[in-house]
Amino acid sequence: MDHTKINLIVRLQHIDNQIEEIMSLQKGLPEEISALEEDLAFTIRQIEARKKITEDHLKLRERLNGLINDCKEKIKSFKDKQTQARNNKEYDALSKQIEYEEKEIAQCEIQLQDISQAEHHATELQNKGRELIAENRYDEISEEMMPDDVLQQQMSDLSEQVKLKKEELESIEVETAEEVAQLRESLDKQRAVVTKEAKRLLDKYDHLKSGTLQNAVVKLDRQACSGCNTRVPTNRHTLIVQGGFYVCESCGRIVVHERLFDEAANEDSK
Ligand SMILES: [Zn+2]
Repeated sequence: MDHTKINLIVRLQHIDNQIEEIMSLQKGLPEEISALEEDLAFTIRQIEARKKITEDHLKLRERLNGLINDCKEKIKSFKDKQTQARNNKEYDALSKQIEYEEKEIAQCEIQLQDISQAEHHATELQNKGRELIAENRYDEISEEMMPDDVLQQQMSDLSEQVKLKKEELESIEVETAEEVAQLRESLDKQRAVVTKEAKRLLDKYDHLKSGTLQNAVVKLDRQACSGCNTRVPTNRHTLIVQGGFYVCESCGRIVVHERLFDEAANEDSK
């Protein structure tokens, strides 16, 4: 068996592991940031939806009050005309017009009441939300119950958290950028070598890594595959000790003697 090929692939895994180790310094920050950003976007959408409702109500109120004023003006002028009416027919016709305008005013007032009621209802919901918050019953609070000021506070808290986490991540990235760049370069070089010398093993390696596995090549640890802890049959131990490899029957990883990883690590200092 050609042991050089397996050494080449172990070296590839070794470099991959080093990159992964550096990436783990980011402590899940990228995922944390995107979760916070989602929460923030949701809060902003809520605030904007409420702002829109308030603006719509304001516009509608202005329009209705304008209509009411117009109607009142008309009524006033119809009443003036009535005093000069020459006969009953003219007088009655004006009365009908006044009646029409009065109905219009009543319609507008109903709509104004609807707006007030909607606003009152929204305020009541928020008061209920405030009570629930005071009692720590957060899971019972609906979106509408969240008080305006709490939403605003939530938005600024989330923005601040996103900012801090981003700064933390950036400083880690800056600190490790050079090392990662060097490792990626080594990785590319190693891949080029493996592609030439051990294409079939590389295909297996890539296939394993294309799934959820981070480590395709693992050490034999206490006579088991250290990837999944399944025992490696005794009759394969000799082969592994001699520097060969075994494909784990349980997880499919390539299992090698830990000495090979030590050798791969030693290459770093060369
Ligand atoms: Zn395994």
